[in-house]
Amino acid sequence: MEVALKIDVDTHQGLELGVPRLASMLASEGVAASFYIAMGPDNSGRAILRVFRNRGFLSKMFRTSAVSMYGARTILSGTILPSRPIALSFPGIIRDLKAHGFEIGVHGYDHVRWQDQLDKIGESGIRNELGDAFEAYRAILGEAPRSFAAPGWRTNDAALVALDAMALDYRSDTRGIAPYRCIVQGRVLATPEIPTTLPTLDEVMGRRELPDDGAVRDFFLTLCKPDALNVHTIHAETEGMGQLEGFTALVRGLKQRGAKFVQLREVAARLNRAELPVCEVIRTTLPGRAGWISSQAPVRIASE
Ligand SMILES: [Zn+2]
Repeated sequence: MEVALKIDVDTHQGLELGVPRLASMLASEGVAASFYIAMGPDNSGRAILRVFRNRGFLSKMFRTSAVSMYGARTILSGTILPSRPIALSFPGIIRDLKAHGFEIGVHGYDHVRWQDQLDKIGESGIRNELGDAFEAYRAILGEAPRSFAAPGWRTNDAALVALDAMALDYRSDTRGIAPYRCIVQGRVLATPEIPTTLPTLDEVMGRRELPDDGAVRDFFLTLCKPDALNVHTIHAETEGMGQLEGFTALVRGLKQRGAKFVQLREVAARLNRAELPVCEVIRTTLPGRAGWISSQAPVRIASE
């Protein structure tokens, strides 16, 4: 069983507090992981407010206790309090991650803008988001990024094409079953897409059949396929903070089952691009998640 831990860092607080805790736990467990960091401002307060405005998700916010999970400063970031930079506030933490052998990729620039307005900002807006994010990464690590993971698993044709032109080693923008190449308006893109294959903790938290940490851990252990690459996205703000204990138990459970932890760059390096399935990227919804996400469509037959 192979497991790739994809750790998304969406907020200032997640990078400041969640990332060091996760890195230290993973290092002491001897487990590899890949971190994807939002490089720009923390406007997460805007996203949380938007969720509150949407009455259907009020109960979810209470269920997942957003205030205790994110903290009041994060909830107000970009609303009545100014937004704080995420990556550029903590270059030392990011360099430390790299020094300890963790993989680091780009998780967009303004996470909230990308997630909420991707289709509105147009090609030039997308290019600006990518340009600013890649510049911040280079400023911190002194090298060009090799991978990108879309905020909120949201992408569109313009983003896919713009990212393909950057000739990255891979992207991880979507949900899906296994690595593939995207087809956009009849054109097969070069960059492999390595999708997240498992649900996230916040999508399943609070389900009646998962009353405690042990049940949640067993649920994820059951979902991991023994004969496949399992890509599990976690969040620095969640598994790195309030849910660290439960996540540690999951990591140990996976180790006991003989899981091999791989970084996504290792997966990308062994992919034969010519042999990858070609799939469209479609929009769908997931239980427990607000709004749409991008997903791998069923494989296209080559002769079509
Ligand atoms: Zn994110």
